[in-house]
Amino acid sequence: MALRDKFIATGIEENSVLLCSSTHHLLEAKHYLNSSGIKIELVPTPSGIGSACTTAIRFARSKEELVRQLLQESSIEWLGIYHVKRQDRRADWAELWDLKLNAKFEKVLQKVAQDQVLTKEEIVTLLQAQTDGELKALFEAANKIRAEVLGSIVDLRAAIEFSNYCIKNCNYCGLRCEQQIKRYRMSKKEIISTVAQVDQLGVETIILQSGEDPWYTTDKIIDIVREIKRKFGMKITLSLGERSKQEYKIFKEVGVDNYLLKIESTNRKLFKQLHPDDQFEVRRKHIKWLKELGYITGSGSIVGLPDQKVEDLASDILFYKEYGVHMIGIGPFLPAQGTPYQEYPEGDLLLSLKAIAVTRLVCQNVYIPSTTALASLAKEGLTKGLKVGGNVIMLIMTPRVLREKYQIYRDKNMINLEVATNSVKEAGRKVPGYIK
Ligand code: SF4
Repeated sequence: MALRDKFIATGIEENSVLLCSSTHHLLEAKHYLNSSGIKIELVPTPSGIGSACTTAIRFARSKEELVRQLLQESSIEWLGIYHVKRQDRRADWAELWDLKLNAKFEKVLQKVAQDQVLTKEEIVTLLQAQTDGELKALFEAANKIRAEVLGSIVDLRAAIEFSNYCIKNCNYCGLRCEQQIKRYRMSKKEIISTVAQVDQLGVETIILQSGEDPWYTTDKIIDIVREIKRKFGMKITLSLGERSKQEYKIFKEVGVDNYLLKIESTNRKLFKQLHPDDQFEVRRKHIKWLKELGYITGSGSIVGLPDQKVEDLASDILFYKEYGVHMIGIGPFLPAQGTPYQEYPEGDLLLSLKAIAVTRLVCQNVYIPSTTALASLAKEGLTKGLKVGGNVIMLIMTPRVLREKYQIYRDKNMINLEVATNSVKEAGRKVPGYIK
């Protein structure tokens, strides 16, 4: 019997998933149900059952009554329990099983096809894909999951880098406070007129990004956010670095939709090497706060950092799943002139693509940008990212005269609408209908 026929003959288990109101409650529920003897798994939230968390808890349908009772006795806030069938994609992925795959690698990919949860070791196995067959299978599988969960449209968002001042001194970053660069801050008027240009393109989400610049006080940010909402009604993402919990709360109340807070690496030692002014536990706490406050939360990793191992990338991916991060930006390390990391080699394109693909397989129902860093590292980097699981492109809409001054890394590619739409077409995908 051919391998694929054997797969089709296997039955599919019936399960339920529990969706919690926030990462905090998800983690509480995970601990509580585990300690009550219920066998559970953290899985990507199936599409169509809410957007509070990208991660849900799966358990056997037969335990549903017991789980409801336990939850009612607890203070855990949960949104619902839904009946789901485990996906079985083994027949649909038939052509992948015809590729020459190493047995260990194929076993892991079969687990993904059967909707089973991967261990860290198995994630490492996927990240170590090497042969042409393994790479093809990994990228194809990620592309298939992206198509199944999110369809063919590539979401386009626009970033305005409104200040390159920063009080922090991250060792890899071209904006670190010790860098001798020309600094700028955009006024509210300049920001609003740039947003108007973005609005003309039809783009619906604006990303307001800066270094950690306390000159933009809570009130100044609120004022800008209110004006954008009033004039354009756009979705707003803030990427301002670490702020206080109270500020995150106020920004949410005035209409901010998303918050991006990169962690870059969940390996504590690497995190400290990168961020001498930051603490891993604090960054993690901030991501948890953002989730609790109801933000669509973004984070991400740098691939190819000095001393980084594939095991570290596997831990990053598991972290994004556990914390239900909605938008996961993965890009290669690119050295910035004048920083302590300027002589380190740039990150590897292939490993970056593998990390994107594996993130799609593990986290599934999330936004994964084909990043500016990918486009900066390689010609066709954007297209390649879209072909291995990516579903977002970020346009750089910072005014032309300022763009060159926002060089987190050297030779940053300034992605405009034309570049983005060409990449979308080359990847055989669709530009959203909202683009004019
Ligand atoms: S990575 Fe962000 S916080 Fe760190 S120095 Fe650069 S702009 Fe500042």
